[in-house]
Amino acid sequence: MTNSPEESPVLNTLRQTFDSLLATAREQGASEETISLLRANNAEFYNFLMFSDGRFDLPNRNAFYKTAAELIETNRNKEYGCILFNIRDFHRTNQILGPDVSNTILENFLSSLKNKLSEDEYLFAEGQDDGVILCKTDHVEKFLEYLQCARVEYDSITHETYEVRCAVGCNRNIGNISVHFMVMESVSIPLKMARADKARGTWCVFWDESIGLHAWSQALIEDSIPRALKDEEFAVYFQPKVNLKTYTLAGAEALCRWKHNDKLIYPDEFIPVMERNGTIGELDFYMLEHTCRHLRRWLDIGLQPVQVSVNLSRVNIGTESLIDRIIRTVDVYNVPHNFIQIELTETTTDVGFAELKELMEGLHDAGFSMAIDDFGTGYSSMSIIRNLPWNVIKIDKSLLHEHTDPSQDRHLMFKSITHMVQTLGLEAIVEGVESLDDITLLKENDCYLAQGYYFDKPLPADIFEQRLRTVQE
Ligand code: C2E
Ligand code: CA
Ligand code: CA
Repeated sequence: MTNSPEESPVLNTLRQTFDSLLATAREQGASEETISLLRANNAEFYNFLMFSDGRFDLPNRNAFYKTAAELIETNRNKEYGCILFNIRDFHRTNQILGPDVSNTILENFLSSLKNKLSEDEYLFAEGQDDGVILCKTDHVEKFLEYLQCARVEYDSITHETYEVRCAVGCNRNIGNISVHFMVMESVSIPLKMARADKARGTWCVFWDESIGLHAWSQALIEDSIPRALKDEEFAVYFQPKVNLKTYTLAGAEALCRWKHNDKLIYPDEFIPVMERNGTIGELDFYMLEHTCRHLRRWLDIGLQPVQVSVNLSRVNIGTESLIDRIIRTVDVYNVPHNFIQIELTETTTDVGFAELKELMEGLHDAGFSMAIDDFGTGYSSMSIIRNLPWNVIKIDKSLLHEHTDPSQDRHLMFKSITHMVQTLGLEAIVEGVESLDDITLLKENDCYLAQGYYFDKPLPADIFEQRLRTVQE
């Protein structure tokens, strides 16, 4: 329920069709009286389609916007609050009890809510399991109590009941809102937050101004992403990997930076947004392609590049012809595959084993190196480690930074993980190496590959290129 009350294309087409039918009727000699009769009926039909949910005979989202606008125009919004709710797990109710029973539950639930409305209060419905209430601020609690947990009877003979629980976004008072669609924003953002925080038992989130600011900046970022991809505003930074036996450059990781309006934006600001809206899939290919462009340039000017790892998000896994697309992207630049390592985060391993296996084997057979990223933060099973062709296990920085007291669990974890990696004959690299103490710990555990601020932060491509030159001098 986030659109403003514009006509849908369907309604627009319907209106145009009706207008042309009226014109034809007029051409065929229909009287003005007949025409105005037809027009009046049409208006009624059209209003019904525009403002009713068509299922429970309740007003719909368009009606909501119209009412919100009227409340604002007449200054009565100061007396009102707004509540947006979504019935939890309703698709499961549907699966378990069947469509007839769940329909009855929904109908009875909505009709009880409707009975709670006082004069000049409104309930709007739309879709399977969403609804919105505009009620007097004093009555907000009464509705919330019902929405938190409502016992709904669905069999009038046996009196069997079902417990309906909702996730809720609530704005207790819409008095300082001056645009109708902001009333919906002020409850839909909190509802999203309530749904996302279900694991911690949250069922209702209230609107406050700080929520608005955060959501606004996220929305700005989200809006700018497609253009940023098109205008190539994302830059590849290279963070060196270092061999601790020789202290020489052993590889690099390609990390993304967004150059936007003279500002450098870091991944923690935009990657979560891109993961949510799916554009991370495109970013990964953008990064792979741009990494290959750099590698090609270095090969062309006679520099000997190192292997560069690129991150592949879980969003991509399972997409059609992923392996082909990766190979094609690299082959356009004629970059030998052994210059590319693909990093999959440990959480990626939650995806189906069969899909992961197909991807891993395909990429491995094509000559790419495969690394498991952030190892030690998730729950990878031994079978995922043993039965898939990993080349490198990348140990997460969280296992490193609390190692000063040897009795601490993390230190023990670090030791046992490095030993396990070695036993399996895989290469271990540790990221987040920040101090000499870190390096000592790595060496004590026979771990000789490191990446971290102790050596370098991620470097712009031209600085990294100079590094390649000095290595070869
Ligand atoms: P990551 O893949 O685990 O990358 C390592 C992150 O650790 C990088 O943060 C890097 O700058 C940071 N780091 C490196 N050395 C140190 C250190 O010594 N100490 C500390 N505290 N941090 C260190 P960055 O570049 O901000 O990237 C953050 C995350 O964003 C990455 O974590 C990765 O998950 C994601 N990311 C960045 N670029 C891409 C991309 O192109 N595609 C995808 N899918 N994700 C990306
Ligand atoms: Ca990584
Ligand atoms: Ca990592």
